[in-house]
Amino acid sequence: VIVTLKSGADAARVQRELTGRGLWVRKLESAASVCFWVEAHSVHVLEEQILQIDGVAGLAVAQSAHPLVDAQSPVVEVAGVRIGAGAAAVLMAGPCAVESEAQIEESAKAVASSGAVFLRGGAYKPRTSPYSFQGLGIPALHWLRQAADRHALRVVTEALAPEDVGPVADHADLIQVGSRNMQNFALLQAVGRARKPVLLKRSVGATLEEWLLAAEHCLVSGSSAVIFCERGIRGFDPSVRNFLDLSTVALLSHVYHQPVIVDPSHAAGRFDLVAPLSRAALAAGAHGLLVEIHPNPESSLSDGPQALSPEDFHALVRTLRTS
Ligand code: PEP
Ligand code: MN
Repeated sequence: VIVTLKSGADAARVQRELTGRGLWVRKLESAASVCFWVEAHSVHVLEEQILQIDGVAGLAVAQSAHPLVDAQSPVVEVAGVRIGAGAAAVLMAGPCAVESEAQIEESAKAVASSGAVFLRGGAYKPRTSPYSFQGLGIPALHWLRQAADRHALRVVTEALAPEDVGPVADHADLIQVGSRNMQNFALLQAVGRARKPVLLKRSVGATLEEWLLAAEHCLVSGSSAVIFCERGIRGFDPSVRNFLDLSTVALLSHVYHQPVIVDPSHAAGRFDLVAPLSRAALAAGAHGLLVEIHPNPESSLSDGPQALSPEDFHALVRTLRTS
């Protein structure tokens, strides 16, 4: 059961009155409202008794385990950019990792001239091998933000660990949680406390319900919005890096009315499939794309085989605009 409050009600007093009656309640707080979720193991209290508490507006039976996700608007705003149902498809692009000031500047120029609005680039990289390039940390965040500002772009970048959240939140408009961390609940809570929008990538092994619950963790901890990002799940066939699950993208977009974007780069793992998967994603209902590009893909320190050159990215964007 969810206990909703009248506007201006003293939430702390209502909480004391609920717990005083033997109810175990959890405070659900979003930017717009506060309500209480009565835990299953609470004692039975008559509904009329709860309704008599001063400040209680009503009771609702929760149909789902992720009420804050369900209540999220189908179109959210990130630094002035609308993402979701009815908004123009939003393009986010940039290198897998920020490698140098010159590399991210050149990437930003290519991203901006294509009409994309977000610059991506990792400062903290989740790498399967400990011997691979791990990212440049704080200096990379500075270069990323400065390059984005020079070209009027927004920034999306990943927080890999709870201690990265502060610096990432200081430099980014949208905090990325990577697929390997989708169920790192300590990280999700730390990201939530930054009270910023989150780009939540799907784990390679997560069901939709687990993904929605991960988003609920962010929202209940304070995130202002969650945008889902499908980047491919683990399939049985190694012909492509991951299996791009467009069925779930369509479900999220058309049935759950959630803002969802697709990362075709990590799904395909090869640059030549990025354009067709991008078009398929938008056709399925995705509200945007996260694409890896690199000024010189052959020299990329991570994910080079899937990076588009600036020219190929421009060609892709032209086909999206005209389709
Ligand atoms: C990335 O965006 O560079 C990345 C590491 O993505 P994922 O978490 O989807 O592997
Ligand atoms: Mn990458």
